[in-house]
Amino acid sequence: MDIRVTGIVKEFGDTAALRDVGLDVRSGELMALLGPSGSGKTTLLRVIAGLEIAERGKIFFGGQDATRLSVQQRQVGFVFQHYALFRHLSVADNIAYGLRARPRHRRPGSAEIKKRVDDLLDLVQLGGLQKRFPAQLSGGQRQRVALARALAVEPRVLLLDEPFGALDARVRKDLRRWLREIHHKTNQTTIFVTHDQDEALELADRVAILNQGRIEQVGTPDEIQDNAASPFVMSFVGDAAKFDARSSSGRVFVGEKTVDVGAKVPDSEKIALYSRPWQLRLAAPGEGHLDGTVHATRRAGRHYVVTAEANGELIDIESQHAPADGTRVGIIIDSGRVFAG
Ligand code: ATP
Repeated sequence: MDIRVTGIVKEFGDTAALRDVGLDVRSGELMALLGPSGSGKTTLLRVIAGLEIAERGKIFFGGQDATRLSVQQRQVGFVFQHYALFRHLSVADNIAYGLRARPRHRRPGSAEIKKRVDDLLDLVQLGGLQKRFPAQLSGGQRQRVALARALAVEPRVLLLDEPFGALDARVRKDLRRWLREIHHKTNQTTIFVTHDQDEALELADRVAILNQGRIEQVGTPDEIQDNAASPFVMSFVGDAAKFDARSSSGRVFVGEKTVDVGAKVPDSEKIALYSRPWQLRLAAPGEGHLDGTVHATRRAGRHYVVTAEANGELIDIESQHAPADGTRVGIIIDSGRVFAG
């Protein structure tokens, strides 16, 4: 089901957690809410769920105004960072819980519930663990049970708040791939909160970037990475070096040399140019747009990322070779994105 929020304002005392937030989530889409701590991600999720009531704004579920519906009426599924499984219930009973809690006329029969639990356990690749209790599961398995439980009631939207946040890096990575597969199979409209950009970019169909209670950009992972709408998005998502630049006669200059940014730029004495590591190249000292000193080098797959210090900033540059720390280098800026300085 498609979800639309418009003009959401949510305040906690003096803190404006959400300032005029609008977002469209398409039916069947996996949308990530990505932003730094305190940017309002969890609050937005809770407003959509009905766990928080916004001061202003509206929420629509499939075109229906859901702003005044209770949490139950909204029929959402949740998974939080800290698994909220019932400790005294078996895996099967945890998953069946929401179905059994339904009013009698909407409650499936016990054979149907059992089949649904078995199917969901297969889906989350925990088939055969029906009788275990939460204490007998690993953290990753518990989160998979929590997801099965949320899916059991066929929610109109699945809301995930850092569901893998408490798990170690290796398990997180596996669960990410696994969630992506489950999403392909179920096509369940899903909103996923994370502060981990890799997680958002790998998992989501589209990503909404939050900053200080506002959405700065909504786009596919490619759009967000290649076409950042603001300096914040540019530096929050992926590595980017910032250069002081100016523009004249439509051309961008760093020092005395031009940079081809692929667009005509209005004349300005001060603009900010942001470049990704692959838009930069190493050269001999004096032959680039600026000079720097190699600070560190690490391998990244088939190439290296050289971190150089220039004008007091650390700049990451992709390179085919690994110069020794302390080497003086020139840095060529092949391209980048410009913003008002
Ligand atoms: P994190 O990644 O750290 O969970 P977040 O992006 O989810 O952060 P929120 O939890 O939505 O951010 O918080 C947004 C702002 O609202 C923060 O400044 C936070 O301190 C404040 N806030 C959230 N919940 C409450 C509350 N119940 N009472 C007071 N302030 C709150």
